[in-house]
Amino acid sequence: VLLAACGIPAAGSSSILDKATLVVGVKPDQPGLGLRGADGTYQGFDVDVAKYIARKLGAGVTFRSTPSSVRDKALQEGTVDLVVATYSITQERKTKITFAGPYYVAHQDTAVRAGDPVTDVRDLAGRRLCQVTGSNSWRRVVEEKKIAADLVPSDSYSDCFTKLTAGAVDAVSTDDLILAGFTQGGPLKIVNAPFTDEKYGIGLRKGELDGCEAVNRAITEMYQD
Ligand code: GLU
Repeated sequence: VLLAACGIPAAGSSSILDKATLVVGVKPDQPGLGLRGADGTYQGFDVDVAKYIARKLGAGVTFRSTPSSVRDKALQEGTVDLVVATYSITQERKTKITFAGPYYVAHQDTAVRAGDPVTDVRDLAGRRLCQVTGSNSWRRVVEEKKIAADLVPSDSYSDCFTKLTAGAVDAVSTDDLILAGFTQGGPLKIVNAPFTDEKYGIGLRKGELDGCEAVNRAITEMYQD
């Protein structure tokens, strides 16, 4: 994974590097990635990445549930210092925030009920597709691939999988890493026809250049460890 440049610094901004404790936005409901337990603690790959980075930055960490719909806004408003939440680096998001990374490259794929004849995202024309607010995945299907799926709004991937199991949607198309966590042992299947590269970045407030470079150094060390 090749790290991207952090961009240009914002004038007069305070740095996350001065903070004793970092507030990190993670997903609360994605098994294996960011999952909040009944005791309030968070677990998963993104949580582990965030802990590693905070440690390398010499800071403590507290987690805050940050669904797809609020990731950009939480950084812009400063309610979180970092976002580590299956957050793809996109041109559109880069106009609002700064990304360190990528630290992982996922690929978008599609989950359906076992027994459904869908074998490719193209088969979703006319089918009900879960649409998570603030997520890029549905855009990849209907805007980039121009597949005329019937979008069913939702606020999270956990809700999409409840809907898929219940028959309220026909498909969930998003990062393979997310699909894998939700389809373990269930009555669902991943079609295994990946069609994008999702470069997972670590979100910072726009122009937080020193912080971004420090996070990039931590990512490099993480992969060398
Ligand atoms: N990685 C995609 C995105 O950032 C989908 C997963 C998500 O929304 O968390 O939009």
